[in-house]
Parts: sequence; C-alpha cells; structure tokens
Amino acid sequence: SPSSIDLRTWVRDIPDFPKPGILFRDLTPLMRDPEGWGEAIRLLGLLCERVQPDLIVGIESRGFIVGTALATIVGVGFVPVRKPGKLPGEVIGVDYSLEYGTDRLEIHSDALGDGSRVLIVDDLLATGGTAAACTELVLKAGGELCGFGFLAELAALEGRNRLPQEQPIESLIIYS
Ligand code: IMP
Repeated sequence: SPSSIDLRTWVRDIPDFPKPGILFRDLTPLMRDPEGWGEAIRLLGLLCERVQPDLIVGIESRGFIVGTALATIVGVGFVPVRKPGKLPGEVIGVDYSLEYGTDRLEIHSDALGDGSRVLIVDDLLATGGTAAACTELVLKAGGELCGFGFLAELAALEGRNRLPQEQPIESLIIYS
C-alpha cells in the first residue's frame, strides 16, 4: 500500500560536503531508523513486484546497503558493482567521465548469466553518470535491465535523462 510516512524526515542536509558549494543529502539517519528504513525498503520491494528482477545490482558503496536489504526481502540474489581492483574474480569494466577526470566500475564477468533481469539500485541519483555507467556494465555482462531504484534523486541535475527510458526509474524522495 502507498505510504503515509514522509521519508524526508530522516534525511539530513549537510552544506559544503564533500566540497564547498555542495549540499549533501545524508541518508544515514534514514538507514539508522528502523521505521523509516523498513518503509524505504518496503517501497522498493513494491517496485520489484512490478518489474520482477532475478537479481539486484548495487553500486559501491551505499548501493550495497540498499541492494542487500532489498534483495533479502524480495528473495533474489545480490550482485555488487565495485570500484576497480576490488573484485577478486574475472571482471568486466566500464570507464566513465566525472566532472574532473575519469572513474571505472567493475562487475564479475559471470555474475549475471545470460538474460538475467536486473534491477540497478543506489542511494541517490544525481547527474546519472554512475547509474549510466552501471547500465552499460550490466548490458556488457549479459544482463537484461528491468528498472532502477533510488532512495533519493536530485531532479534538477536531470540524471534520469541519461538512463534508458524503457524501464521504470523510481526514486522514493525527489528533490526539485
Ligand atoms: P551521479 O553519478 O552524479 O548521479 O552521482 C551519484 C553517486 O554519487 C551515487 O553513488 C551517490 O552515492 C553519490 N552522491 C552524489 N551526491 C550525493 C548526495 O547528496 N548524497 C548522497 N550521495 C550522493
């Protein structure tokens, strides 16, 4: 059922983090609160009922927290997407550009199998660069995308426009 709980209650705004001029949306108070956190994961569980993923892919590192909780209540597996050099097995990687310089994400080559339906999750959608790179990685690894789930989204950055539009892109809290 839809929620009457306002998840924003548990988000703390931290000015000038990690750099001057940036307003960081700190989601750790939400994770710390059993009622708020339970509700957040329950709502993402409803998304899973709609899109029926075989696997949840979570992006390092806060996407691990969202993704493992979600995978556990839904009863599907969890697959980590990590920063370079962290995964022990054979990996597939994708390089992507940041505001300054580049970064890279990796996934185990055999993690998705052929045509597994994948829901990508992270804590927050900002410019969409991270989620877009993760999308490329999931497709490269043979997965089939079925949707995206975020705790929060900074809508002004229009990150969702960088993601494929054929699947649901759901954010529990949207900052305009
Ligand atoms: P993007 O690639 O610009 O969409 O940035 C999204 C990534 O940066 C996610 O992995 C988030 O964890 C992180 N991020 C960016 N801004 C925030 C914020 O205000 N709060 C929490 N995480 C953030």
